[in-house]
Amino acid sequence: MSLETAVERITLDLDRPFTIARGTETTAENVIVRVVDEGGMAGIGAASPAERYGETAATVEAVLPELLSIVEDVGDPHALSAIERRMRDAVRDNPAARAAVSIALHDLVAKRLGVPLHRLWGLDPAATPRTSYTVGLDDPDEMADRARNAVESGYPILKVKLGTDRDRERLEAVRSAAPEATIRVDANEAWTPKEAVRKSQWLADLGVEFLEQPVPAENPEGLRFVYERSALPIAADESCVTVADVPRIADRCDIANLKLMKAGGLREARRMIATAHAHGLEVMIGCMIESNASIAAAAQLAPRCTYADLDGSLLVSGDPFEGIDLTEGRVHLETQDRPGTGVRE
Ligand code: MG
Repeated sequence: MSLETAVERITLDLDRPFTIARGTETTAENVIVRVVDEGGMAGIGAASPAERYGETAATVEAVLPELLSIVEDVGDPHALSAIERRMRDAVRDNPAARAAVSIALHDLVAKRLGVPLHRLWGLDPAATPRTSYTVGLDDPDEMADRARNAVESGYPILKVKLGTDRDRERLEAVRSAAPEATIRVDANEAWTPKEAVRKSQWLADLGVEFLEQPVPAENPEGLRFVYERSALPIAADESCVTVADVPRIADRCDIANLKLMKAGGLREARRMIATAHAHGLEVMIGCMIESNASIAAAAQLAPRCTYADLDGSLLVSGDPFEGIDLTEGRVHLETQDRPGTGVRE
């Protein structure tokens, strides 16, 4: 058996500048990985590197030759355990680069077996939660417009980015524009613990469902302080990067937000889900600004998660890939009968 591999960088244009507490982005660089078997069948994956976790498209491209040489050396796409272990030994960091290879291999394996990936895992498509739609930081009126448009377009769950001095004004504007919406708030590490506890009170009064990453990941005691006093359930994102983080956050949050680009691949993500459940945590499957080439893979795990935040590909234009139908926020796995992750060029 032999495998060929290829790498291609793509630039995704965001429909509008995307601002969170850390900064603003107008494009997202993704790196596409293809793994092709001797019959010409291709598995497709993608990396969406995040500088928050020390990666850029350049670092992904720098390590992919080493990772793909492991794939070619093993030569058998079904040897997922051996390949992913060797990749982790070779480059311990660089999770988005490893995720791209993991996704391409899983896509290829399921295609070779002729089944959608979630079917290979025995998951129930009907158990898939609806995805949220993200409203980035902007002027209150602009955020209200976006919230209204999202709800009118059929997205009933909003994830609202906060983390500035005008948080309350912004969220009140969003709530007025979307009185019936389920609203989740993500502060992206921007608050102090006391500030987060205080703000959780009026967030609860405005009917917010839960609060994500209120304080910096570097302050685990602060996260515990908020968790013990917050008026809302707490989700951990930046505090929950790899499977080793799950036991560390288990007594200081309610929900683990996992992403393929943090975990380093689908096998690691599945370990994280199992570990989180074993520690009594609920799981949200999240994403970066990503092509459908990787969102489609994350969607395959959604039936095992309570919450989904998979709108990364909805925020960009010019994605060369199609993936899972996310119309009205529904992760339509039940209509994905294409083998693999469901990605299509
Ligand atoms: Mg987040």
